[in-house]
Amino acid sequence: MAMNKKQKRMLIRILVSFILMIGIRILAPKGIISELLYLIPYFIIGYDILRKAGLGILHKEVFDENFLMAVATIGAMLLGEYTEGAAVMLFYQIGELFQSYAVGKSRKNITNLMDIRPDYANIMEDGKLVQVDPDDVEIGSIIYVQPGEKIPLDGIVETGESNLNTSALTGESRPREVRPNDEVISGCVNLNGVLSIKTTKEFEDSTVSKILDLVENSSMKKSRSENFITKFARYYTPAVCYAALALAILPPLFFALILKQDPMWGQWIIRALTFLVISCPCALVISIPLSFFGGIGGASAKGILIKGSNYLEAMAETKYVVMDKTGTLTKGVFEVTAIEPKAPYSKEELLEIAAYVESYSSHPISKSLKEAYAKEIDILSVTDVEEISGQGVIAHYKDKSVAIGNEKLMNHLHIETEVPNEIGTEVHVAIDGVYAGHILISDVIKSTAKNAIEKLKQVGIKQTVMLTGDSKQVADKVAKEVSIDLVKSELLPENKVKEVEKLIEKKQEKEKVAFVGDGINDAPVLMRADIGIAMGALGSDAAIEAADIVLMDDDPLKIALAIKISKKTLRIVYQNIVFALGIKGLCLLLGAFGFVNMWWAIFADVGVMILAVLNATRALYIKE
Ligand code: ADP
Ligand code: MG
Repeated sequence: MAMNKKQKRMLIRILVSFILMIGIRILAPKGIISELLYLIPYFIIGYDILRKAGLGILHKEVFDENFLMAVATIGAMLLGEYTEGAAVMLFYQIGELFQSYAVGKSRKNITNLMDIRPDYANIMEDGKLVQVDPDDVEIGSIIYVQPGEKIPLDGIVETGESNLNTSALTGESRPREVRPNDEVISGCVNLNGVLSIKTTKEFEDSTVSKILDLVENSSMKKSRSENFITKFARYYTPAVCYAALALAILPPLFFALILKQDPMWGQWIIRALTFLVISCPCALVISIPLSFFGGIGGASAKGILIKGSNYLEAMAETKYVVMDKTGTLTKGVFEVTAIEPKAPYSKEELLEIAAYVESYSSHPISKSLKEAYAKEIDILSVTDVEEISGQGVIAHYKDKSVAIGNEKLMNHLHIETEVPNEIGTEVHVAIDGVYAGHILISDVIKSTAKNAIEKLKQVGIKQTVMLTGDSKQVADKVAKEVSIDLVKSELLPENKVKEVEKLIEKKQEKEKVAFVGDGINDAPVLMRADIGIAMGALGSDAAIEAADIVLMDDDPLKIALAIKISKKTLRIVYQNIVFALGIKGLCLLLGAFGFVNMWWAIFADVGVMILAVLNATRALYIKE
């Protein structure tokens, strides 16, 4: 990665002052002139630090690392240690440059994702394509996307066929084929064909804006470790400043007044200044947020969006993973496998009635019925629609009251149902209170579901649970096939919340319960669990909002991967805390007793910081 302008300027300052210092050392005669000459490289390399320290004092925010460096180096110079003063500043700036480079690099990874931001949308004006700001495009407009361009707004393909690269959003490299009537989401890159798209959302509600908001805000939600560091620094920096002051004053006074010896002021002041240089907490302050940043960045490159460091932290402590069935473990794409009407209805009639009554619903079941019906639906002929979450739909169609849904719904309406011959999700139909038959549909288990459950065990999950509103037979069949530990079926959305609450009560204090759902009627559970994970969220706004972690593609394998990433990140965070504090403590002690000089102090500080930052960037790279 190339350096930015600011970093390049700093590199030049470092090189210039370094060469000057060497030059002075070799060429200038020893004595006061040479010493004064050191002020030139000192100011070249350190003027911004001195300025910031001065501003800090003016704003009464005295104790920061700029202040530490300024006091230590100016002090050293006043005591005649010109080389030290200049060199310490030089090393400090080298460390800062390195750090800003490393931060930039992990930021880059996130901004790669940010690269999904479209700059313009093409619309047709007087027979010509013109580029307009995506913000200005209204819902229902037709936009044109050429090969190589990003899709700027969510919409539906009107004409054209093409492949889309969704990798920036999902981490999935396989292109997705689209043709007319397919939904497309903003942020994908159009690979080959020209598409005309009818927009269904404004820019600010489009997927791309949602994701960008989410990523931009992720650093606001701080983890416990980061909060600890902030608090720590608030007390630590003033504390070391006072300790240094004490080190400069108390021992000489003790020697002079009590022991009646030479107080050796110079030596103790140098020790105090060394102490200040050592105490600079940069390694800690920078490497902890950087590690989280790296973890979040690394995850986003795999299509896992984590809304804050706190969730990354919680994810590492997850011991129970509760999953919804439909759309999470199964594809949520039902297919009609049987239609069994009762006289006087025919198969066609039953399907037509079902498709019409379901026309307003966004449930996967409704989609499958509409697809099986495959004819245009005049939604105006359906009125008084009432969707009962986890049960079905009741509506008026052609002057009849129709109820469509599961056993539970039929029981409520006191309608006797007939048991189907095969296993499958039953969609019962009642017309004007009389049973009219059922439609049997079935869903397909995702190919990675079984493997996903195994992987969860490998990353230390104690129990996997499947919750579903579907019938017991269907639920048990799926649970057995994917080897899930516990299954609860025929649940209403509020029962799912209760099941999660039961688990939360049962688990130990530090353990966390994660719920994974597709966001369709499970937003309450997503919110209630310690961590809500929404999957296949592309296009589902409710899920993106309700969840703490969003898996951009439909793959349940990503759950275990997210846990792996979070654990690795936390391991790195702890390593850095222990390492940085350990070395710091040791150096402070050695410094106070005069065993290390300022050279070693700055070396240790920059060294620790570089190691900590290098360690932190490891969080970016995760093997699957
Ligand atoms: P899951 O827990 O598998 O996500 P839901 O809570 O979405 O399932 O739905 C539970 C059950 O309620 C479904 O299996 C179905 O029997 C019934 N149901 C829900 N919505 C509808 C609908 N729109 N049409 C027909 N049946 C429905
Ligand atoms: Mg569901």
